[in-house]
Amino acid sequence: MSIVGTGNFFGSPEEERDRLVQALQGGKRQTTKPAEIPTVRLNDGNKIPQLGFGVFKVDPAETERVVSEALEAGYRHIDTAAFYNNEEGVGRAIAASGIPREELFVTTKLWPTRFDDAEAGFNESLEKLGMEYVDLFLLHWPAPRNNNFVQAWKVLEQLGERARSIGVCNFLPEHLRQLIDETTIVPAVNQFELHPALQQRDIQEASKAAGIAIESWGPLGQGKYDLSKEAPIAAAARSHGKTLAQVVIRWHLQHGFIVFPKTVNPERMRENLDVLDFELTAEEMVAIDNLERGARGGSHPNDIN
Ligand code: NAD
Repeated sequence: MSIVGTGNFFGSPEEERDRLVQALQGGKRQTTKPAEIPTVRLNDGNKIPQLGFGVFKVDPAETERVVSEALEAGYRHIDTAAFYNNEEGVGRAIAASGIPREELFVTTKLWPTRFDDAEAGFNESLEKLGMEYVDLFLLHWPAPRNNNFVQAWKVLEQLGERARSIGVCNFLPEHLRQLIDETTIVPAVNQFELHPALQQRDIQEASKAAGIAIESWGPLGQGKYDLSKEAPIAAAARSHGKTLAQVVIRWHLQHGFIVFPKTVNPERMRENLDVLDFELTAEEMVAIDNLERGARGGSHPNDIN
């Protein structure tokens, strides 16, 4: 239910209660209740909110404000990385929010230059976040030329309760195969570039076959192509009375992908969360699936070493 822009109010008792809560919060507008956000059960038994908030390229000086606004909008899953240089701001916003730690899901990532001293890299991230544990710790790229992701993974396997779940990013099927063959714990997630124009179905299939949940990065295509020119997205937006971004986020959710679009704009934060009250039809899903054209916006996984 959206409570943005309500004027005179003659709603149900629940809506009336929400209105009073909103008034008591000093007019803070939460469009989506965190409890409404669906969760995905990972292969280690842990649950992750399927819709979260990413902070790639959020200026470190702005991160505390941006993440505070995201938490206020209703996000409870934040995706950061050591490489983003903004873990401190994420941690400060979370500490200031007063939200119990167990109600939040925090992901951070280890950059390949730290694969040879993975535990020290992990400890630095925890320290910057000001946390005793993260919910998900990821190897950021396979960096196959360095030939040390297996060694780093073995360190992640030993982190225990300090990294509640562990996973990888940007792993191609051959990297997943090698990791699974040579180590004990199957990654909980594989996070890779995934949006209508680049769906990487081979990686999807290899991940699913191994029981690894899929996280989509760059879910809106990072603004690198104009969603209004993608006819099936524009048509679905018109027919559901939703925005282009909302249609694309909904497409990810209906595919079962975990998704955390990024924006520094509070209105868009709420817009991107307000996707739980409509459903794309099977035909609309297929039409958006057919936008696949191999349009990679970021780096190829073999090229970051
Ligand atoms: P994204 O697809 O989320 O796109 C972000 C862009 O979309 C921004 O420029 C923003 O202005 C615009 N946008 C957001 N909401 C909008 C709306 N409602 N309407 C119009 N435009 C809107 O790209 P991303 O930030 O690269 O990806 C999301 C997250 O994925 C990142 O923040 C990060 O957490 C993660 N990520 C991970 C990796 C990796 O290698 N593991 C790489 C890139 C990103």
